[in-house]
Amino acid sequence: MTRAVLTLNAGSSSLKVALYPEAGTEPLASGMADRIGAEGVLTLKDASGAAIGAAGDIGSHAAAITAVIEGFRAHWPDLELLAIGHRVVHGGVAHTAPVSVDAETLEDLARLSPFAPLHQPHNLAGIRAAMAAFPGVPQVACFDTAFHRSHPWVNDTFALPRALYDEGVRRYGFHGLSYDYIAGELARSAPHLATGRVVVAHLGNGASMCAIQDGRSVASTMGFSALDGLPMGTRSGQLDPGVVLYLMDQKGMGAGEISDLLYKQSGLLGLSGLSNDMRTLEGAGTPEAAEAIDYFVFRCQREVGAMAAALGGIDALVFCGGIGENSRLIRARICERLGWMGIEVDHAANAANARVISSDLARTTVLVMPTNEELVIARAARAAVGLMEDAA
Ligand code: ADP
Repeated sequence: MTRAVLTLNAGSSSLKVALYPEAGTEPLASGMADRIGAEGVLTLKDASGAAIGAAGDIGSHAAAITAVIEGFRAHWPDLELLAIGHRVVHGGVAHTAPVSVDAETLEDLARLSPFAPLHQPHNLAGIRAAMAAFPGVPQVACFDTAFHRSHPWVNDTFALPRALYDEGVRRYGFHGLSYDYIAGELARSAPHLATGRVVVAHLGNGASMCAIQDGRSVASTMGFSALDGLPMGTRSGQLDPGVVLYLMDQKGMGAGEISDLLYKQSGLLGLSGLSNDMRTLEGAGTPEAAEAIDYFVFRCQREVGAMAAALGGIDALVFCGGIGENSRLIRARICERLGWMGIEVDHAANAANARVISSDLARTTVLVMPTNEELVIARAARAAVGLMEDAA
């Protein structure tokens, strides 16, 4: 019998999946469905990366989930699904940890959709589809906001009339599954740092930073929405709200248009006029691409300073996410002007993508740590059905 838990990450037209055994850190298989609803294509790979299944014409999330399980069952005919873990962007104020989902919880989570209209409805569609396809299998929601619920009030609020705070207009913070993973890995592999003041820079297509003290989130660059803080692939990052008022009043733009501008046309793409992809920009050689990189680096430096200020100092800086884990150039450039906070990069270690990239004598340790949001979800799904945490 192949007993396993499934992790699902449902986006608007995509579905990322991974199948994990009962214990251990390595998935048995993973997969990705793209362009769901418009000639959707699903590909499944085993742990070595070899293709183990594919399907076309995927019309809905429900169809994608069914195709995923059919694909896995074709490969492991004795597959028994123990639980399904879901990435859910918003857990509101209440959820500080993963939760088993029933119809009532699902309704509660649906009430949070106005806070994350571009993600929450799709995440919940994934849960509904999985519930319908596997009625007896426990469904576990894992929230991107949960890790940040330890924020002190001053980092949880805006200086707006209190009634807005009470109705949920707060700084929630996101990328919590990634930060949870990094905090856990630090506790395991570098306990002396895990009990200190750590700034984690999750730099991917979406990008944010988190200030962590003693394994708990103290502040984050993302706030009410996943737009705040650092510039991202296509998102603006922090913006004077006066700009939004200008777009509305003077240019007659509506909420939909502004949302499209801030989420999809800004960031690296907007600045470079070329691409949202850092690798492309690094190789582009145009002045606009260079300026987009300059802006990204500058804002990262500013926010490392802000996170360190929230912590009252810094003992370690951790890079993760596609850019953080892979781009030597961006890591080196961000660290270049942070010598004043004891950050000094060993260029050979950085070029080798080593785990520790700070120089031996530097006061602040700089680490590169691959993040693993799926494993955090798989562990929550295992825990929900009473499986012990893996030792690794
Ligand atoms: P997401 O937030 O969608 O999960 P990722 O964490 O996969 O995104 O990060 C994607 C980003 O990482 C892209 O901008 C990509 O160009 C960048 N990236 C990946 N590898 C490299 C590399 N070797 N050099 C520079 N950037 C890289």
